Amino acid sequence: MDVSLLAKLLEDNNQPKFRLEQVKKAIFQDGVFSFENITTISKELREKLKENLDILSFFPDKTLVSKDKRSIKALLKLKDGNLIETVFISPKPNIWSACISSQVGCPLGCGFCATGKGGFKRNLTAEEITDQILYWKQYMKKKGLAGVFSNIVYMGMGEPFLNWEEVSKSLRNLTDPDLFGFSSRSISVSTAGIPEGIEKLAMKFPQINLAVSLHFSADEKRDKFMPINKKHNLEKLKNSLRSYFTHCNRKVFLEYILLENVNDSLEDAQDLIKYLKSIGNFHLLHVNLIRYNSTSDKLKPSSSSVAREFKNYLLRNGVNVTIRKSLGEDIQGACGQLAGR
Ligand code: SF4
Repeated sequence: MDVSLLAKLLEDNNQPKFRLEQVKKAIFQDGVFSFENITTISKELREKLKENLDILSFFPDKTLVSKDKRSIKALLKLKDGNLIETVFISPKPNIWSACISSQVGCPLGCGFCATGKGGFKRNLTAEEITDQILYWKQYMKKKGLAGVFSNIVYMGMGEPFLNWEEVSKSLRNLTDPDLFGFSSRSISVSTAGIPEGIEKLAMKFPQINLAVSLHFSADEKRDKFMPINKKHNLEKLKNSLRSYFTHCNRKVFLEYILLENVNDSLEDAQDLIKYLKSIGNFHLLHVNLIRYNSTSDKLKPSSSSVAREFKNYLLRNGVNVTIRKSLGEDIQGACGQLAGR
């Protein structure tokens, strides 16, 4: 929702200053989904707001709930007709986390990702980014979903650091105690490895978590599956992580999708360890292994036993590592599966 428009509307209607706070609380904290339901303001004002302002900057098109009910995917139609997706995940009972998009499509074209295959249409505005959070707050309220909405990850469609202006505005709004009031530490931004973005995040939002989609630790393979590596190779990524650590003494999450016979051999594990050790601050690096979620006929996920062996090898070599359980695969809502359809 456009807060500046809300403030102007209230001012034009000669409302006292505290009215803005009342409406903001109802929308951003209580997840009220219609002005009609804000009972702390007059009926006349509710109608004025309803006529002149939309709470959401898109129309929810479709929602899919996974069989285990721990993952919900929403397809959202933006006002210009473009479609984006966002996912709500419950990694633990009564804990909910939103995975949000920052662009319509993605220009980076990673070979294992459904979003990348659809190409890039445009950047999302800060409002369209944060409205995904409003949408899930409202969803919880409407459906009576129990639990706490505690985390946000910028891991949906798009590369957040290629939309820095709007992403940084959205981060300010999400952490603003007068709006959403999320703590910085509960938000993670994930990048395919854009050095300028990593630097800006460290300087402007040192408490926000950084996640890097690493996936390969040899340039030849990374070039093949992640074209961004031709511009910003592993050496550049290493240097930007080193510089990140000079500003932030915080854990960095490295995502590693396990693809059968592509990046899951003993040699791949050894390359990964060598690369991690070369970055420095080894204790602050945490590898999340994710068995590939199918989006292509050519690529297959590594088997569970190979994933376990890979993990154990890393563990024996001192790497902080977990196998991240993929949620929402049956609704095409898992990592790399969002295609906006
Ligand atoms: S993995 Fe991320 S960066 Fe790569 S194409 Fe998909 S959305 Fe873009």
